[in-house]
Amino acid sequence: MEAAALRDQAMHDTIAYDLVESLTMEVGPRSAGSPGDKAAVVWAVEKLKSLGFENVHTEEVDVPHWDRGLLNANIVAPFPQSLVATSLGGSPGTPAEGIEAKVVRVEGLVGLRALSDDDLGGKIVYVDHEMQRAKDGSGYTAASRIRSCAHYIAAERGALATFIRSAGTSEHRVPHTGSMLNNDIPPTIPAIALANADADMLTYQMQSGKPVSMYLLSTARQHPREKSANVVGEIQGQGDLAHEIVLLGAHLDSWDLGTGAIDDGAGVAIVTAAAKMLLDSGNAPRRTIRVVLFANEEFGLDGAEEYARKHTASVKDHVIGLEADFGAGRVWRFSSQVADDALGLVDAIHALLEPLGLQRGKNKASGGADLRPMRKAGMPVFSLTHDGTYYFDYHHTPDDTLDKIDRDDLNHSVAAYVTVAFVAANIMDSFGRLEPNTRRKRTCSAEDDSWVS
Ligand SMILES: [Zn+2]
Repeated sequence: MEAAALRDQAMHDTIAYDLVESLTMEVGPRSAGSPGDKAAVVWAVEKLKSLGFENVHTEEVDVPHWDRGLLNANIVAPFPQSLVATSLGGSPGTPAEGIEAKVVRVEGLVGLRALSDDDLGGKIVYVDHEMQRAKDGSGYTAASRIRSCAHYIAAERGALATFIRSAGTSEHRVPHTGSMLNNDIPPTIPAIALANADADMLTYQMQSGKPVSMYLLSTARQHPREKSANVVGEIQGQGDLAHEIVLLGAHLDSWDLGTGAIDDGAGVAIVTAAAKMLLDSGNAPRRTIRVVLFANEEFGLDGAEEYARKHTASVKDHVIGLEADFGAGRVWRFSSQVADDALGLVDAIHALLEPLGLQRGKNKASGGADLRPMRKAGMPVFSLTHDGTYYFDYHHTPDDTLDKIDRDDLNHSVAAYVTVAFVAANIMDSFGRLEPNTRRKRTCSAEDDSWVS
């Protein structure tokens, strides 16, 4: 079967939707280290085996286990109101009696950095920043940087707790959680995200000119670390190139508030469905197709880093990586990061994607978070960018549930992934190698412009 035929067949398949339905309805929330995480690993092994993949196995990953506990956040004065909010992943809790303090509002990290210990010592800091809606999700870069850095900068200046406006675009009264970790520095003060509507309320009260104080009680805490696993399944290649690997990735974990449908049940479904179509096409691929469902993307990329460590010796055999982790919207752009002399090959793949309406992106694709450690070690990557216009309405919220997934949009994505995977696994040419990237980790300093989400 040829790439174009597989592409067209994918538009009428049911496997991807069936997979994300099964994962969200049977397992549901699966944050790192939780019972749901362990259930997801069992689910994935059984599913990959029953679909007929070869060499199905787990690769153990050590993960943190954080529990958000209960949260009570109120404006005490000038106009008492209770707030819809949630802890950011990794936040410590408050003392048992809670924290009550005056609030200082700042706009973004620039506003926060401009204040001193005298301004912030003993206060609750509220960092306001409205995330911009964009098809390519570009507004998330600034918003997620605030999520990761605000508490760290505020704690250095003696603040007691940080509130941020959610890194998300939802108009519903739901807060967006997400990781607050950076550079392995343990957070020291509670960090909380407000629903957009509640951020508006707090901003309004701050702008009244009257002193604003808040009360916060949180029982969030860290449990001992747990074992999780990357789940792997393959279609063995045949012939001279069988030792080479086309890596298809997505992450199995999710945040705990929703059922992890768009993040990243959709990605699990898309890459697994694309590989299943190749498996069923009747012809063994030249290269081995390896599906990796990564552990703990959301809360520290442990699965991705463990994969890169474990497979150091075979990094050079990973000829290309492709990951699905940007929701269930239609794919609209195909971009790459391959050696310059392989760009003609990228053009040829793009020609097969044009009937799906895909634009050709630059040769600067990140490939996605779970492929980052392998990309830094030299593995070329592709990115199929999904339409992210509405992704951040649901991302990391209780609204991330199956009903947000449209079957036709999901199949359209599978069509793009199966096309790319088929060509990558069967052409004789290679995508070259990337220069290993040894750039230091991103930091929260004002000078660091290397931040990417
Ligand atoms: Zn994700």
